[in-house]
Amino acid sequence: MLTKADWQTKAAALNIETRAFIGGDYVPAASGKTFDKINPATLASLGEIASCDVEDVNRAVASARAAFDAGIWSRMAPKERKLRLMRFAELILENRTELALLESLDAGKTIANCYGDDIPGAADCIRWFAELIDKVYDEVAPTADSAVAMIRREAIGVVGAVVPWNYPLLMTAWKIAPILAAGNSCVLKPAEQSPLSGIFIARLAIEAGIPEGVLNVLPGYGETAGQAIGLHMDVDAVAFTGSTEVGKKFMQYSGQSNLKRIGLECGGKSPNIVLADCPDLDKAVENSAWAIFYNAGETCSAGSRILVEEAIRDEFVEKLSAFCAALRVGDPLDPETQMGALVDETHTQRVLSYIDIGTQEGATLAQGGGRVAGMDGCFVQPTVFADVKNSMRIAQEEIFGPVASVITIRDLDEGIRIGNDTIYGLGAGVWTSDLDKTFRASKELKAGVVWVNSFDAGDNTTPFGGFKQSGFGRDKSAHAFDKYTDLKTTWIALS
Ligand code: NAP
Ligand code: MG
Repeated sequence: MLTKADWQTKAAALNIETRAFIGGDYVPAASGKTFDKINPATLASLGEIASCDVEDVNRAVASARAAFDAGIWSRMAPKERKLRLMRFAELILENRTELALLESLDAGKTIANCYGDDIPGAADCIRWFAELIDKVYDEVAPTADSAVAMIRREAIGVVGAVVPWNYPLLMTAWKIAPILAAGNSCVLKPAEQSPLSGIFIARLAIEAGIPEGVLNVLPGYGETAGQAIGLHMDVDAVAFTGSTEVGKKFMQYSGQSNLKRIGLECGGKSPNIVLADCPDLDKAVENSAWAIFYNAGETCSAGSRILVEEAIRDEFVEKLSAFCAALRVGDPLDPETQMGALVDETHTQRVLSYIDIGTQEGATLAQGGGRVAGMDGCFVQPTVFADVKNSMRIAQEEIFGPVASVITIRDLDEGIRIGNDTIYGLGAGVWTSDLDKTFRASKELKAGVVWVNSFDAGDNTTPFGGFKQSGFGRDKSAHAFDKYTDLKTTWIALS
């Protein structure tokens, strides 16, 4: 296990690649423009990153299209694509230390999480889809004997992947694993706050035998590179993870251009209902705390609204506050750190402004509530608000930071009603020992995933995505292929 000093030494020795990756080569943006990438934990510059725009998108899409049409990947036997994607996953693991470091420096995430979860999780996702692709069968329809009708899934073509900064490589893997496994070419745009790991893995794809042009990586701003992908006439689909606001823009881009398929994984304000009959209150408190404070609350499915039954409310708030007070917040490169920095100063100000709003709205600040004293970077204390009303902005709007809103409920009925009283529907949790309540909650909560006596559990075998304004389409599991393939029927008349 590396120490803080080891990680710091490795960070100082890093040689960071900052260019885009188009057609198999690292290249500067066509305009020559760059943007400064700041480490949110230290406020030091990590480098000048290529700032891609329309011209770079045009080049990357042309390269992706040429690779697709040539069939060098799209028509490769699935079992051969499998082997190369497995090698890609292995190479990610071989570079685990460097990738973990890049993600931690880029986004302020703890090195423990980057090394322990994100990087192996990304490799595991790529391996899972690689292993699946030569086991997916097509269909033959039950027609009359006078015909044979085959229903086949075909790769859709060139797919744009536009991803956020909170789990940079993991979200990238959730997109590119099924995109590439299905035989598509891909143009990836990482978030401007976290481009480094995406840029890094582009060369690993080539090393693994994924042909030039199949995976292109374009760092840059959403308003420039992201929009150009959304509006491009030769991009067949876009897989997006990010805010609901930008998700809606992609729907508009599609309508304004070529009706490209859009898959959206957007925001959330997930309810986590803790009932008095939960099997273990201490476990419920600890899991509920991690449900919101893991990754400093920068998680789309975070359990940001904790709905606690009256009888256990005081005890719950007391225990949750004690848990927060003991959380080790600090230097992301210290392996002992449990909560690192927020992604940048703009986002930090936004999170702090919600803490002010919560206080003004009359919620009770039970714990935290400000910056971490003595730290220069983007560090905010784990914060708990009690006596929150669901109509308050801190209960309705996605804060995307370490701020929990505790709402008192009379019973499960009220929990379900309040839980569903949101524009979002990504995840929901319920803690109970009662079988009837378990089934009722899982049926009536409007969310893509309902967790019972856990929160945020799942793996590559289960689909992930939202109801309502949390988006549509699913990442992970075989259902992810729906976004990146089209169905074709071939009807053969027999004489
Ligand atoms: P964001 O602002 O929506 O950005 C997401 C991506 O879209 C980034 O690459 C961004 O580029 C790009 N983008 C921004 N404006 C754009 C535009 N006008 N046209 C095209 N692309 C544009 O979200 P974020 O701040 O990165 O991430 C936080 C949000 O993501 C939260 O709302 C969270 O709930 C959501 N999220 C959802 C999931 C999920 O699975 N459902 C997972 C993670 C995060 P730049 O930032 O580089 O400009
Ligand atoms: Mg952004």
